[in-house]
Amino acid sequence: MTTDARTEQAAILVKAAEYLNWLKDEGLTHVEVSRMVPEKSRITTIRQPRGLAVIAAEIAKCEKCGLHGTRTKTVPGQGIPTPEIMFVGEAPGADEDEQGLAFVGAAGKLLTKMIEAMGLRREDVFIANILKCRPPNNRPPTPEEMQTCMPYLKEQIQVLKPKVIVALGATAVRGLLAVETGITKLRGHWHVFEGIDVMPTFHPAYLLRNPPAKKEAWEDLKAVLRHVGRTPPVVKKGG
Ligand code: URA
Repeated sequence: MTTDARTEQAAILVKAAEYLNWLKDEGLTHVEVSRMVPEKSRITTIRQPRGLAVIAAEIAKCEKCGLHGTRTKTVPGQGIPTPEIMFVGEAPGADEDEQGLAFVGAAGKLLTKMIEAMGLRREDVFIANILKCRPPNNRPPTPEEMQTCMPYLKEQIQVLKPKVIVALGATAVRGLLAVETGITKLRGHWHVFEGIDVMPTFHPAYLLRNPPAKKEAWEDLKAVLRHVGRTPPVVKKGG
């Protein structure tokens, strides 16, 4: 190969690397490359769901509803990118809004205990909400806010592909399953969201107000563990 040909080849490789980096920034995760037949070399792209970081970056600049005007930080959700189990709550509260992390306030502390009772750590699951911004004074999300925000959660779920989603409370159930039935009726029974099994259970904030309901919530979490092939740990009374 002549020096000119080598220089030309190096320039092509630099261009290809630049192109691949651009595709990566655009959120593509896979590129299919043909066999390198010089006169017919070709790169085709496969559109994949965008990565979690790309979705979070879009959420961070979202102004699709009025909540962007009152939020401190967006709360996309956090956890392992390949979870067996995903928890979905309602919306960020004051602590979450301040830190940009889901379930870090009082309800979050109870959620941590629930996850640990399952023999897992928060880092083993993914935790998110229906809304990515805090409604002022923690008022319930409006149907319009939920409809506007749901595409982000939907896309996150497509990327995460959890085996099971635990829907925490009535708003999570309404967002995911579009049903108005009360959580007391729905909990403990399996539902499906876009091919993923969903177990509704009580929201940790409700459990803080109604500790006796923890017993039923624990039954739901044990069903979740069995569903993913894990043996529920034996938990001491009073937990
Ligand atoms: N309640 C929720 O539903 N989500 C949080 O992140 C915190 C409290």
